[in-house]
Amino acid sequence: MAKRCAISRRNKTPGMDQGTILLVDMDGFFSSIEVVRHPELAGLPVVVGADPKGGAGRGVVSTCSYEAREYGIHSGMPISRAYRLCPDARFLPVDMALYQAVSGRIMKILASYADTFQRVSIDEAFIRVKTDDPEDAIETAQDIKKEILAKERLTCSIGMGPNKLVAKIASDVRKPDGLTVVAPDEVYEFLDPMPAKKIPGIGKKTGQVLKSMGIETIRDLRECDARKLVLRFGKWGYRMHDLACGIDRSEVKEDHTVKSIGRELTFEEDTSDPGLIYDSIDALADATHRALSNAGYLFRTVSVKVRFEDFDTRTRSRSIGFPSSDPELVKNISKNLISEFTGVAKIRLIGIRLSNLRMADNGSSGATHRCHASRAGITRQTSIYEFIL
Ligand SMILES: [Mg+2]
Repeated sequence: MAKRCAISRRNKTPGMDQGTILLVDMDGFFSSIEVVRHPELAGLPVVVGADPKGGAGRGVVSTCSYEAREYGIHSGMPISRAYRLCPDARFLPVDMALYQAVSGRIMKILASYADTFQRVSIDEAFIRVKTDDPEDAIETAQDIKKEILAKERLTCSIGMGPNKLVAKIASDVRKPDGLTVVAPDEVYEFLDPMPAKKIPGIGKKTGQVLKSMGIETIRDLRECDARKLVLRFGKWGYRMHDLACGIDRSEVKEDHTVKSIGRELTFEEDTSDPGLIYDSIDALADATHRALSNAGYLFRTVSVKVRFEDFDTRTRSRSIGFPSSDPELVKNISKNLISEFTGVAKIRLIGIRLSNLRMADNGSSGATHRCHASRAGITRQTSIYEFIL
């Protein structure tokens, strides 16, 4: 195992009585899964995302392999730019159903090692292991890596520390296939030299303000008078200072509540054609509703998002008085909300989001309950439908 993963561990530290926190982050998750499915792509630049269409494609890169990263390609980059950087890369569409299935199996493996477990995203989870002995925790991390590699042929990077903040930052130190261990008495030594923006929540803007205050590293931030930070940033100043000191009291806790479900699409060309816009709303409403019912939720709020050709982005929402699962209601409310924006300027992107969610049933017989909920929605919808239009 030592050969496969680089371990950075300076000394043993007893007394991790809070338990030890691990952040497990899969390496290049979507592209790695594609390489497992198409082994002939191993070692090649692989880009998962929108269709590049010979450089004219309009979406973005979802994930890419480490080989593609060497060309400067990264997640969130416009696909057209990724194509220009490496036209010979293998460009593959996003197969979310497959990635979710793999994620489900990996999360099960992770949860089996955890005292408490918190899924952060499709390819990331916190694990708390109850042990005073860092050697035990390291063994757990190595077992997790072995099991995921054996069962899914995928690698992950793991950060280990006394709290979530340290584990999260440590997970990013060595990728792919890394294991970075930070003992409680090594936290300053570990965090101090890093740029302040490594702290979650410190983005470009905050980073610039800090820089103007002479703060560039986490050490600068830690040594700064917390009152100074509070004057500048309010409550967040306290929190920022705590984090710079390696203090993070947030617990590893599974969050079961899905806050919202949404889908969006970018038009091939910016458009002001109402026919195309309304047809796309229908398709988006269907897709969003499908995701909602697959997840077993009812909604109360429908939001639409519009991005114009100049990237000006607007949203509008409307709530109904009861939880519903009715797809027609999603369509009608969305069309009504978007009507404000048609004929104004050319539109680049539209999206629908359903929020204020509630579980459709208590899990006894999902299909029957959902069907029933749907009927209830349609019955009640008549009056709402008339009300809206
Ligand atoms: Mg990842």
